[in-house]
Amino acid sequence: MSGGRDGAALLNADRGLASEPRLLLGGPIATEIRAGLAEDFAAFKARWGKVPTLAIVLVGADAPSAVYLQQILRSCQKVGVDGRLVEIGGDVTPDAVCEQIERLNADPSVAGIIVQMPLPSHISLRTVIDSIDPAKDIDGIHPRNAGLLSLGYDGFLPATAQASVEILKRSGIEIAGKRVVVVGRSNVVGKPAALLLIREHGTVTVLHSRTRDLGHHTRDAEILVVAAGKPGLITGEMLSPGAVVVDVGINVVPDGAGGEKLVGDVDFDSARGVVSAITPVPGGVGPLTNALLLSHLLQAATDQEARR
Ligand code: NAD
Repeated sequence: MSGGRDGAALLNADRGLASEPRLLLGGPIATEIRAGLAEDFAAFKARWGKVPTLAIVLVGADAPSAVYLQQILRSCQKVGVDGRLVEIGGDVTPDAVCEQIERLNADPSVAGIIVQMPLPSHISLRTVIDSIDPAKDIDGIHPRNAGLLSLGYDGFLPATAQASVEILKRSGIEIAGKRVVVVGRSNVVGKPAALLLIREHGTVTVLHSRTRDLGHHTRDAEILVVAAGKPGLITGEMLSPGAVVVDVGINVVPDGAGGEKLVGDVDFDSARGVVSAITPVPGGVGPLTNALLLSHLLQAATDQEARR
């Protein structure tokens, strides 16, 4: 498959496609959502006399998640809510992590709790997830919220999975009836994204690390959502001409000049000549994720105040 700008333009022209694919940008959508949220949080403050707190639990130091956390904290600032980083040393016991979460569950100023992954290997993910109050579980990882999603009922959705679907809907891309392929089956991204795409009436196939001949399936996709955490896993030759691609992957790789850069799971240079639309990394799904998370915080805070 020919890479580079000119090769991509020629390939797309041969296929009768636009010379460059449409870039599905999350930033402008996120800005619009945040503008609405800033007003809504101001109204919340006027009504209840306080701003809700988002508690972000970080167990052990982890460089990539530290970068992500700074982004969330900045997003909190932009909409006028309180972001509270709860740092716990990596050598802590599982019980101590759960006790900390239970304190946050009981704290009326905390409306939402997220736990940064990955956790240190001696801490059971299941135990931590189970200890979060489902009413404060704004990233939809508690079994109650996961169950509600699988049944098609309202609950908190995992924000990244929701962002991968919202970016399609808000870009005017029809999902109903389309052959949709999701690469990845994690509980936080691939699986909930597949469920949401079914909810949107897509005909959904899920691929994973044991799938044989990935390309055989991806070439069938009219819409491809990739969340594998493997840089360059999907190349142009694995895509069908005119496909729409949502690249959820965020991978840090060497930039060839002694530094590092962020790339997705899709080899952008070879894909751009084939697809009709694609989310860039960075700048695609990522910015939308945080904005949606804060909209969940507003929902959680409003529900909690209404119940008091
Ligand atoms: P994960 O490691 O929990 O799951 C990866 C999934 O990909 C697994 O289901 C696995 O079966 C599948 N997979 C791995 N290798 C594969 C292969 N060779 N072929 C087919 N399937 C394969 O990761 P995750 O938490 O689901 O995250 C996935 C990606 O999304 C990561 O790059 C992560 O950084 C990124 N992410 C992005 C955001 C965002 O806001 N954009 C948020 C969370 C995660």
